Amino acid sequence: MSLNQYKRIQPKVIKMLMNSYQKNRLAHTYLFEGEKGTKKKEIALEFAKLLYCENEGTVCDSCLNCMRISHHNHPNVLLIEPDNGTIKKEQVLYLQQEYAKTNLEEGPKIYIIDEIDKMSINASNSILKFIEEPLENTYTILITENIHRILPTIISRSQVLNFQPIPKKEIVEHLKKNEIDPYIASICAHLTNDLNEALEIANEEHIIDVIDLVKTVGQNILNKNEDLIVLLENSQVDIYKDKKQLAYFIDIMLMYMRDIKKLVHNNDNIIFNHELPFINKHLHLLSKEKIIYNIDRLLKAKISLEYNGNTVLLIDSLLINLM
Ligand SMILES: [Zn+2]
Repeated sequence: MSLNQYKRIQPKVIKMLMNSYQKNRLAHTYLFEGEKGTKKKEIALEFAKLLYCENEGTVCDSCLNCMRISHHNHPNVLLIEPDNGTIKKEQVLYLQQEYAKTNLEEGPKIYIIDEIDKMSINASNSILKFIEEPLENTYTILITENIHRILPTIISRSQVLNFQPIPKKEIVEHLKKNEIDPYIASICAHLTNDLNEALEIANEEHIIDVIDLVKTVGQNILNKNEDLIVLLENSQVDIYKDKKQLAYFIDIMLMYMRDIKKLVHNNDNIIFNHELPFINKHLHLLSKEKIIYNIDRLLKAKISLEYNGNTVLLIDSLLINLM
């Protein structure tokens, strides 16, 4: 991805960083916070490129410095990530040693620490010491998906940048560029906020079967004419055996029911566009209470699945309740 593409998915963050850079008012410590898939680490590297690119004021992605940063081998740009789930004290010690060294190469030193919430308290305290007294021409970017786990003293000494979830239309565009059918793309874009993960889901063998199953179940909820458990037995995907597909089924079924709810409120911004004529024709058969009840049952099934409830029981009671 290029800087321009990041501008589309995180416009506020990029604008803020570009402005500070242009006005020479960069903070010494940034805390990038936001959920998974919001491109925090990638944008931290873009920031480093912005400071180093041979084409001043931009990120060309083709000069030597940009390339070295992309490949994590620029001597002044150090990236620390959890090793086996934690950031260890030795990693922080290494960082501090590097921090104390004079530069081998001219230019600012940039430290990027990903998943800072995975540090021990001791490690956090060490980090705190060096962000309290930053050296000139040194920038630290701390990254987290869990800002509530970060020491308040670290937050107060950092400039916090909030990363927004990636707009669904950007995820859909990304999937379409990768030759995913637009209809499948819009459903998969609502299953995750992560571009890569959305593409993986869209390419999964059974995702179309799950979507078909949701459509069939949805139609049968609307026209109340078949035994849903028999329908499941005839499906191409076995949600009784495959928990991952079951999770997709519940999430996509939720989208379907929420689409129905939107249509009741005359909001036509829906995901299941292909189903619009059928849903509109049968909408009057479902009460508003029943729609809300069904959404509630689906949400409860989702929680029960997360807590490892009995899958067979979960599916059977869900389907009986949905009807
Ligand atoms: Zn460059």
